[in-house]
Amino acid sequence: MPTSPATPLEVLRAVFGYHAFRGHQAAAIDQVLAGGDAIVLMPTGGGKSLCYQIPALLRPGTGVVVSPLIALMQDQVEALRGLGIRAGFLNSTQSAPERAEVEQALVQGNLDLLYVAPERLTLPATVRLLSTIPIALFAIDEAHCVAQWGHDFRPDYLQLSMLADTWPTVPRIALTATATAATHREITERLRLENAQHFVSSFDRPNITYRIEPKDSPAKQLTTFIKREHAGDAGIVYALARASTEKLATTLTAAGIPALPYHAGLDARTRRDTQARFLNEDGLVVVATIAFGMGIDKPDVRFVAHVDLPRSIEGYYQDTGRAGRDGEPATAWMAYGLNDVVQQRRFIVESAGDETYKRQLSAHLNAMLALCETVECRRQNLLSYFGEASAPCGNCDTCLNPPASWDGTVAAQKLLSTAVRLDRERRQHFGAGQLIDILCGRETVRTRQWNHQSLSTWGIGTELTDPQWRGVVRQLLARGDLALSTDGHSTLWVTDLGWEVLRGGRAVYLATPATPSQRAGGSQAKGVGHGDHGEGVDCGDHRRSVSPSDQEKHRNGDPTDPGDTGAPAEDSELFEALRAWRTGEARARAVPPYVVFHDATLHVIAAQQPVTLADLAAISGVGTKKLETYGQAVLDLLSAAA
Ligand code: ADP
Ligand code: ZN
Repeated sequence: MPTSPATPLEVLRAVFGYHAFRGHQAAAIDQVLAGGDAIVLMPTGGGKSLCYQIPALLRPGTGVVVSPLIALMQDQVEALRGLGIRAGFLNSTQSAPERAEVEQALVQGNLDLLYVAPERLTLPATVRLLSTIPIALFAIDEAHCVAQWGHDFRPDYLQLSMLADTWPTVPRIALTATATAATHREITERLRLENAQHFVSSFDRPNITYRIEPKDSPAKQLTTFIKREHAGDAGIVYALARASTEKLATTLTAAGIPALPYHAGLDARTRRDTQARFLNEDGLVVVATIAFGMGIDKPDVRFVAHVDLPRSIEGYYQDTGRAGRDGEPATAWMAYGLNDVVQQRRFIVESAGDETYKRQLSAHLNAMLALCETVECRRQNLLSYFGEASAPCGNCDTCLNPPASWDGTVAAQKLLSTAVRLDRERRQHFGAGQLIDILCGRETVRTRQWNHQSLSTWGIGTELTDPQWRGVVRQLLARGDLALSTDGHSTLWVTDLGWEVLRGGRAVYLATPATPSQRAGGSQAKGVGHGDHGEGVDCGDHRRSVSPSDQEKHRNGDPTDPGDTGAPAEDSELFEALRAWRTGEARARAVPPYVVFHDATLHVIAAQQPVTLADLAAISGVGTKKLETYGQAVLDLLSAAA
């Protein structure tokens, strides 16, 4: 480190160029600095890294960071070097001489931070090497990998309990963005962190706008969404099938949105190249299966889109969490339809597991469906799934355009009684399509074949359109009035709850989904960033306390924040010029653009147009080293543009 500041706050300002700590950062840093253990649970983008990086800089010796994300180590180390921090990594991607060089720097006391993969750390040779040097702390990143029932379990993580025996006096800090209580408990036990202090943040991601709309033509809907709201932005589109990732990538590219497919069927090299391009270029869209996942920690992913229904809320939250790590406004957008539910139900029926396992999958799917069909705040629904109470957020589609509700009791009864009548023809399996054809009185080969024109509900539902009826089916499924058979045929049957509706014992209020024009309103959706939280919307104070970027924006007078009228308006041409300059710098140095400056920092520069190096240094994200490396170039660019 170039200087030796005395306090965490001074390091934050001088090295990282940030003004204030967020949430639990300061407390967690103090705990580790004093030699204690810590467990930090913070959502993606919450700022976990500083919790170990700053104590590592302030304590004598090297901070050792255990991470399973080998592919990312290079970038993490580059980013730290860009800040003037002496960092290195040891993993299997290196050649023997490269490793030897890092080991030498380590032994000579020239490393502030060392990143290692868990399997390497626990090798006897590594343990011997580390025993010869002073160690500032051990940071165990992605600590949920130790949870045996979790989805990212890594057996190597279990070995990490040995750190407590081998280095009993070195503080250990475990960090993760996985929120469940079970995982938290497993981390505490398996990593032997019984004496650790726990820092648990809210899992809310206030800068992400959640939107879910009915699917009719997904490719068109997706293209419109990106063009209207995220032209030129980097984003990830998730689809279930490999073939659809390829097709969608082609469609987007043809529509002028640069996009590449990513799935497990592509060869390793293509996948590596695509990931590298995604990290290194501005504005590339990757259309992927879930194979494109853990370790995508690009801070400026502006949207995550789902064109198929994810299997669980955990999965959905993890995917969407990749958007907006930098705290700038981002969108989580999804199009889903009845066929998704039918398809997922079929996956479950056909899956290999036992009944308990299948019941668990069904519960996951039902929770996902409830999120999709809720007429209340999506964020409230998501957070309550993770055991967190919150108020309506004002930054999701249902808050922004509350769906109108109508008394759908009669419609529901018509649909349910048709389902009952079809269910009597037990040898046959009829899906939602047949039900709707009957309600609308539409003759088809299948209706004629089964003489469905003679049913008493034939043609009694012409007051609703096809998509409207599909909406009714989805909502009745989400309410639990209807269920899909588990025999693999996706027959709709009426549950006990549904029978109550049929008998007139229960009224049904249904939502009218927002019309496409209501939904789209690009500028509106984009404008309602985090800045709108708080004022006018009763969203509780916790949102602010856990929304550090929010606080930062307010302090800096975030130029992108429509609510903050005191701030100078950003010059978007200038922002683009800065972005182009950044691309050039990043290429020349062979680092991702965000290693030069984050979008958030460029936005403030474009708005404030600093004239002196001192003005520039006052901007969040401009630390000593960045000022030294890029300061003059930025000022030159600004004065040339003036
Ligand atoms: P996590 O690991 O929790 O997902 P990171 O540590 O990558 O999050 O931090 C997310 C982003 O927020 C990074 O760009 C980081 O530089 C930035 N950040 C972290 N702490 C602060 C802070 N106190 N003030 C401003 N920006 C911060
Ligand atoms: Zn909301």
